[in-house]
Amino acid sequence: MTRLFNDPDDFAEEMIEGFVAASARWVRPVTGGVVRSTRGSEPTVAVVIGGGSGHYPAFGGLVGPGLAHGAAMGNLFASPSAHQVQSVATAAHEGRGVLLSFGNYAGDVLHFGQAQARLRDAGIDCRTVLVTDDVWSAPKDDLDRRRGIAGDLVVFKVAGAAAEEGADLDDVERVARLANARTRSFGVAFGGCTLPGADGPLFDVPTGRMAVGLGIHGEPGIDEVDVPTAAQLAEMFVAKLLDELPDGVSLPGARVVPILNGLGSVKYEELFVVYRSIDRLLTAAGAVVVSPEVGEFCTSFDMAGASLTLLWLDDELERLWLAPCDTPAFRRGAVPDRRAVGDDEIAALDEAQEIGEATDASRAAATVIARAVSATAVMLDAHADELGRLDRVAGDGDHGIGMQRGSRAAAEAAQAAVDAGAGARTALEHAGEAWADKGGGTSGAIWGEMLSALGAVLGDDDAVTAERVTTGVVGMKDAVMAFGDARPGDKTMIDAIVPFVDDLAERVAADDALTDAWAHAAEVATAAAQQTSELTARLGRARSHGDRSLGTPDPGAVSFALVAHTVLDVLKEED
Ligand code: ADP
Ligand code: MG
Repeated sequence: MTRLFNDPDDFAEEMIEGFVAASARWVRPVTGGVVRSTRGSEPTVAVVIGGGSGHYPAFGGLVGPGLAHGAAMGNLFASPSAHQVQSVATAAHEGRGVLLSFGNYAGDVLHFGQAQARLRDAGIDCRTVLVTDDVWSAPKDDLDRRRGIAGDLVVFKVAGAAAEEGADLDDVERVARLANARTRSFGVAFGGCTLPGADGPLFDVPTGRMAVGLGIHGEPGIDEVDVPTAAQLAEMFVAKLLDELPDGVSLPGARVVPILNGLGSVKYEELFVVYRSIDRLLTAAGAVVVSPEVGEFCTSFDMAGASLTLLWLDDELERLWLAPCDTPAFRRGAVPDRRAVGDDEIAALDEAQEIGEATDASRAAATVIARAVSATAVMLDAHADELGRLDRVAGDGDHGIGMQRGSRAAAEAAQAAVDAGAGARTALEHAGEAWADKGGGTSGAIWGEMLSALGAVLGDDDAVTAERVTTGVVGMKDAVMAFGDARPGDKTMIDAIVPFVDDLAERVAADDALTDAWAHAAEVATAAAQQTSELTARLGRARSHGDRSLGTPDPGAVSFALVAHTVLDVLKEED
């Protein structure tokens, strides 16, 4: 239970402000997160990490000499937006390139991917290494699809140490990949976490039971068993992870770093009792235990749970893992004194969004667009709980709050753009940026992309006709499919978008009036969204627990159909 907060909506922002105030020795705030407050004598490659908030010390607590150079800090359990990542990386960059590293989650992959493209456009050499240590999130033959949990620390630490040694970007990327390839984790939970202001936990584990393989956002586990003794839990952890030895590792004789991680409300003392057995079991198996860690490294708010991570060393990884570092939450050895970084050394993104020329016809269209986005925000407010419930079945339960936050910000941005004289394209672009920025998550990135793709077709000059709207929504569909790489049948919002767009295009081509065509297409979208109940998820957060979602429609498809109906109401008012 989270007990202390002011306005729950402000929790993440106020948490970051307090963290920065308490940690000025290591970090300073920038748009989107934090960067180091000190510099060494020579410039290094910048290691930029990040993810949603609620996982402290991941991610801001791991910024400092010898570890990360910056952390993009999203809202609670929501990935930071591309804009936030780009801003943090721009500020952290010391002229030798940027390594982006984060856990493998759909929303983070989309936002960090977009940021990487923009950084490259700005002339910054940028690479990405995903953390994929969670053994329960995909089978052994599908390592790349696994999610990242407490193994984050290993990959970030190794990359940060290599950067500190002066390695170039190729080398920092190489050792980060090596660290990830040699790291495996296994997590369990006894009870769910409760976000600030929420009525109840994000998910439940029945009393006396333990969820096996449960994710750090409460993604459902793959099994549930009676709560074991500490010794039995240690046995489960070690047996599974010894069955998951990475390529090139063999026992006896392998050197290993165990990291026993508390997820939020398991006591250090309990962890030590578990660790007592872990140490014995690893040693009995012939492993040589090196520099173990027991404590909190990647939490999930107040979730009751624990995970074990094993890093299988080679000489290079051992040197990098043991190298000194100094961050708010993770310190090792002695780091030489460094100088405070000057304000003029921190590059900032140009935040000004321009309002270009627009015709009166396009301005009139922008007014209608702002009304539609605003009506969408009001509608999503009312449906947030329902959408959250749908997402909780197989995902992480944040679809309602994500859509609510995103659409609210989009509505404000669209109105501000209209007030400043924007045409349709500019209004949609500003709304899309704001949605991606504040909504976070997969759906935030996708809605941001959809609005700007629609805007690109509508432009700032031409009057908006039925044909142009149709071309625009076709462009929107194509953009989402290219961006998120989902196909019909994957159980995503695509399963509502494609039938909607096809139906609309067909009817407009047959000379139906726009509102009539839209009304029919919206019904088609609703039916299609409901039919996703029969599908098994193959993409996104829900993917690793696909079967569980059978019988429940996809939350993103349901929210898309709701938006289609809301836009219809606004179109009808126009008629
Ligand atoms: P997250 O999955 O990051 O928690 P949300 O819960 O807000 O984000 O959104 C989940 C929705 O995103 C899913 O219900 C699905 O409709 C949609 N989605 C997930 N992955 C994709 C994708 N690759 N392409 C299109 N839509 C997707
Ligand atoms: Mg979600």
